[in-house]
Amino acid sequence: MAGLLIGTAIISPAQASSPEIVWAASAAQAPEVARARDYMGDHVTSITWVSRTQATEHGEGAAAAWAQDNGAGVFVTTNLPAEYVAAVVVHELAHQRQFAAYGGVRGAVAHYGSTLAEERAAQCTAALSGFKDFEAYGVETTADCTDGELAEAHKLRASVR
Ligand SMILES: [Zn+2]
Repeated sequence: MAGLLIGTAIISPAQASSPEIVWAASAAQAPEVARARDYMGDHVTSITWVSRTQATEHGEGAAAAWAQDNGAGVFVTTNLPAEYVAAVVVHELAHQRQFAAYGGVRGAVAHYGSTLAEERAAQCTAALSGFKDFEAYGVETTADCTDGELAEAHKLRASVR
């Protein structure tokens, strides 16, 4: 089915000499990515599906998804249940906004003061979306976010690249 293969066939620049196979999302997962893109107004950032094995090989441990600040974009593991894909992708697209606004991962962490604060801002953006999510970094719903974190979430959603 066309359209299920999202993103590029390369995991990272370091592995560019041996492109990885990109696992296609399921028919249930793919539309959830579109919902996240629409919510964030981001139809540009590369989103690549990877297998659990590829994520482990990439050093991402048990992460369901991650974002890179080197232009490679967002990576989502195919074993992430479809019901969580929209919220998780919003979280990762929020990281992309942070990287663009504050100067990559290092700049973003410095801006927020800690990795946890940087993560909570992304997770509060996901919570703000209202898409079904699981708890991460102490945040599952907007009730878990401070007013300041919600203000930042609104800003991350609204920022225009
Ligand atoms: Zn994160």
